[in-house]
Amino acid sequence: MKTLRLLLGDQLNEAHSWFSQINPEVTYVMMELGQELTYTTHHIQKVVGFFLAMRDFSQRLRSKGHNFIYISLDDHNNSQDLCLNLNQLIAKGGYQNFEYQLPDEHRLDQQLIQFCNSLTIASKAYDTQHFLSTREELNQHFKGKKTFIMESFYRMMRKRHNVLMDHETPVGGQWNYDAENRKKLPKNVYVPNPFLFDNDASEILALLKNRNVKTIGSIKNNALLWPINREQGLQLFEVFLNTFLPHFGDFQDAMTEEHWSLFHSRISFALNIKLISPKEVIDRVENLYRSNSDQVPLSSAEGFIRQILGWREFMRGIYWKFMPEYASMNFFNHQRKLPSWFWTGNTKMKCLSHSIGQSLDYAYAHHIQRLMITGNFTLLAGINPNEVDQWYLGIYIDAIEWVEITNTRGMSQFADGGIVATKPYISSANYINKMGHYCTKCHYNQALKTGPKACPFNSLYWNFIDANREHLANNPRMSMMYKVWDKNSVESKNQILEQADLYLKQIEEL
Ligand SMILES: Cc1cc2nc3c(=O)[nH]c(=O)nc-3n(C[C@H](O)[C@H](O)[C@H](O)COP(=O)(O)OP(=O)(O)OC[C@H]3O[C@@H](n4cnc5c(N)ncnc54)[C@H](O)[C@@H]3O)c2cc1C
Ligand code: SF4
Repeated sequence: MKTLRLLLGDQLNEAHSWFSQINPEVTYVMMELGQELTYTTHHIQKVVGFFLAMRDFSQRLRSKGHNFIYISLDDHNNSQDLCLNLNQLIAKGGYQNFEYQLPDEHRLDQQLIQFCNSLTIASKAYDTQHFLSTREELNQHFKGKKTFIMESFYRMMRKRHNVLMDHETPVGGQWNYDAENRKKLPKNVYVPNPFLFDNDASEILALLKNRNVKTIGSIKNNALLWPINREQGLQLFEVFLNTFLPHFGDFQDAMTEEHWSLFHSRISFALNIKLISPKEVIDRVENLYRSNSDQVPLSSAEGFIRQILGWREFMRGIYWKFMPEYASMNFFNHQRKLPSWFWTGNTKMKCLSHSIGQSLDYAYAHHIQRLMITGNFTLLAGINPNEVDQWYLGIYIDAIEWVEITNTRGMSQFADGGIVATKPYISSANYINKMGHYCTKCHYNQALKTGPKACPFNSLYWNFIDANREHLANNPRMSMMYKVWDKNSVESKNQILEQADLYLKQIEEL
């Protein structure tokens, strides 16, 4: 039966069973679409990364003998709309069957369900064969649950997939070594330079320029430093294993102006577009730990595996459980606009200028910069989560809604009222100073709460605590902060709140 199979730009899984045989009756199609360039404003490196990887993937499948249609952005038959293009192809090609892999985004999922309902030919959806849990398994796991705790999900996944287990017990006797993942970077620890590619981006850049595609951020020397095919994804991961993993655990939460990715793996883009699989990554780390625990401490191996087997799969479960309602949750009813310096990095606050600046330069910030610098600030300043989401969805190379929105709206902004996090991830300058090197070079003074040099994080922190008493005072993990706040005199509280009020009024000038 003549079959048309759709592949989306983040479905570049060469190991999918679809490709195990060459079938002359089957034609694959992949498209560069205007509709995907306009639902948010993307970082230039993100658009280039997707298009280069998609083009590379199509050439590989073609060279293996598969029928492959690739519709480029400037193809004169490209309507820029997924369904219109599919309708044209089906009408012209005389296909009797349409197949696709389940999208990771709710938006595309709905679009394809509606499209299939409108078809007069047969259609079928397949699993992407990328994640450790299928959408149905996640659905079953979360069914009927009222609370969603990542740690219990993670333990279940460790047992189910037999990862870092000695029979029924976790390797080392503990499930979680999070407490060992919180060291500041000392001066004497050598941090190697990040491993970068030099993929030629000139053709795509010219294409985007010709078509006036609006993007953010920059790309240097027409070269994309991110992986665009499986070999590069694996190469990046191998470098991480040999060079960065030994220190990953210790300095997972550290921040410094000197190094933009520290000991992090930077494999999220390769993973999210499915060039490499979470299973192979987890297996490789576990094998390395088991064969050489002198080189790879358990805290590093477990800390890394937890992010992928735990957080990444858990967030996907939350996404499918709560979408589409999740996208409009706003627990604190925050309404303030995102300051314009989020698009330039021009702020006197060193931690923010560096985290935003490197995001514009590299389409990347590591987890703690996303959570405890940019996310912490937007939550304390009461920025509307819609604006925060759009920023995160656009700026990062790895930003695809299922993993972006759950991290942003859930983990970082607590806009879901505590589905993902048990308490808001907020801090004053104290934490930022403890975990990073930013404060010593800042215009503001991390020790001050009031006055023109006072660090904005301090007064905004207490202002947030004060303003959200109704929502948070009964949270057992927050009650301590209310006790501390209430010990202040009325006068001192007023001074701090006035300082916060002033900073919020002058947010553009901070
Ligand atoms: C506000 C906010 C927004 C985020 N947006 C995204 C996003 O759009 N896309 C994205 O992939 N990650 C997102 N994350 C999670 C995390 O910050 C990135 O996965 C990580 O920084 C990617 O860099 P890395 O590959 O060097 O990660 P490493 O620190 O080396 O971690 C290894 C891998 O673990 C996985 N991982 C780690 N933390 C998480 C997490 N919280 N949720 C899911 N997977 C995780 C990633 O696949 C990552 O590649 C976000 C986090 C926050 C706080
Ligand atoms: S003093 Fe405040 S604003 Fe400056 S770097 Fe430290 S935490 Fe950030």
